[in-house]
Amino acid sequence: MGSNIVLPGDYLCVEEEFSPGSGTYVEDGKVRAAIIGVPSFDMASRRVNVKPFKRIALPKAGDVVVGEVTMVKDEVAVVKVLGFDLYNTFKNPLTGLLHISQITEQRISSVYEMIALGDLIKAKVLNNYLPLLLSTKDPKLGVILAKCSKCGAILVKKNDSLVCPSCRRVERRKVSMDYLAVARR
Ligand SMILES: [Zn+2]
Repeated sequence: MGSNIVLPGDYLCVEEEFSPGSGTYVEDGKVRAAIIGVPSFDMASRRVNVKPFKRIALPKAGDVVVGEVTMVKDEVAVVKVLGFDLYNTFKNPLTGLLHISQITEQRISSVYEMIALGDLIKAKVLNNYLPLLLSTKDPKLGVILAKCSKCGAILVKKNDSLVCPSCRRVERRKVSMDYLAVARR
């Protein structure tokens, strides 16, 4: 029982072997797939589910993606690209690179000035192959969630800076207009 793709109506097993779970139906004691997907036979619960097929198309130039910064160097940040947004993620993360020249319109001397390890960013894809080359220059692009480098609390956007609600530290980033934690007035 591998991870073959099944089509609606495909036979999975008899009901005595595995009880019908999500994405399945029973007909004359036989469990069949109700959707296109990948069957998974759970041995513990003796239940079979068909998991819907996720979109695996690669992002292309011009697409906007979200990702987590996993490494920062002077010239480039390495990004684990998670999906088109936080709710529409890829089955497997893709590798993205954010070069110093693509972070902001301002001149900066190091990536560290604007991006930190662990930041969640929204970026535009510039190419059609891996690794994805990313840009955060647009006002809507950049860091959408960041943690305090001192205490780890989620930084809150206040006017144009990011402030730690716990230790009051102020940090600088290339902040997106869509930053997720905004201070209440
Ligand atoms: Zn802090």
